[in-house]
Amino acid sequence: MNRIVYVNGEYVPEAEAKVSVFDRGFLFADGVYEVTPVVNGKLVDYDPHMERLDRSLKELKMAWPCNIVAMTAMHNELIKRNNLTEGIIYMQVTRGVADRQFNFPKDIISSLVAFPQVMKLVDNPNARTGVKVVTTPDIRWLRRDIKSIMLLAPVLGKEEAYQKGAAEGWMVEDGFVTEGTSSNAYIVIGDKIITRPLSNRILAGCTRRALFRLAKEHGVGIEERLFTPEEAYAADEAFLSSASQFVMPITEIDGHRIGGGQPGPVVRKLREIFLEEAQS
Ligand code: PLP
Repeated sequence: MNRIVYVNGEYVPEAEAKVSVFDRGFLFADGVYEVTPVVNGKLVDYDPHMERLDRSLKELKMAWPCNIVAMTAMHNELIKRNNLTEGIIYMQVTRGVADRQFNFPKDIISSLVAFPQVMKLVDNPNARTGVKVVTTPDIRWLRRDIKSIMLLAPVLGKEEAYQKGAAEGWMVEDGFVTEGTSSNAYIVIGDKIITRPLSNRILAGCTRRALFRLAKEHGVGIEERLFTPEEAYAADEAFLSSASQFVMPITEIDGHRIGGGQPGPVVRKLREIFLEEAQS
């Protein structure tokens, strides 16, 4: 790849991009991020991502690296300079560069880095067959509502899933599914979607938020409550949602076939209406 990436005010070829070894993102994972989908060269659901960024920054007492107008312009400039038609823009803000000390350094300036990644979001072949999921213990910290770049637990969970031939790990805490390593988790019983309510235990997905709105508009019921892996094994359907997967059917959990091993009608409909809006 020879992408143009953004680093602290400059657009540079990826091979020339540099960040300091003293950046607190590098030393402490002291930073937050957002991943915004791009379809037909346009940002999808951008405002909720910026709202969540604002919240993550406030929770960590971190300053915005620029104003929202500049942030939006930067996203669009990356799309333009990279001729990105479909994929994602990854954007990361860290507390900045300072001598290594644990407490917040005074007068520090936030760092901002962003880059595009080409991905097939609309015509993702996994959506036709559905994906496999395995459960794994949730070993993350207790502020999962902050979109922190501290992602080692999800990295280990995803790797375990891949080693077991699955595409995602569903994390389990106190006997209940929290969420996927990089997605929100849902089951369908009858014509109702069941998913965990928002709290510090999960990330408030922007795709989840859009999905709730679309489900309401199309008369699909949602029940926000905890569910166990055993309940998921017996569910009619299961799926996950994220900015890079949109709505992805799940056809196997821990070796149990879900919905006869085929994407079911509720998830197929939700994906269809989600894609319709993303492409409009
Ligand atoms: N939950 C976790 C832990 C995530 O990492 C993500 C996305 O990265 C999501 C949920 C889905 O959030 P979104 O729909 O905003 O991508």
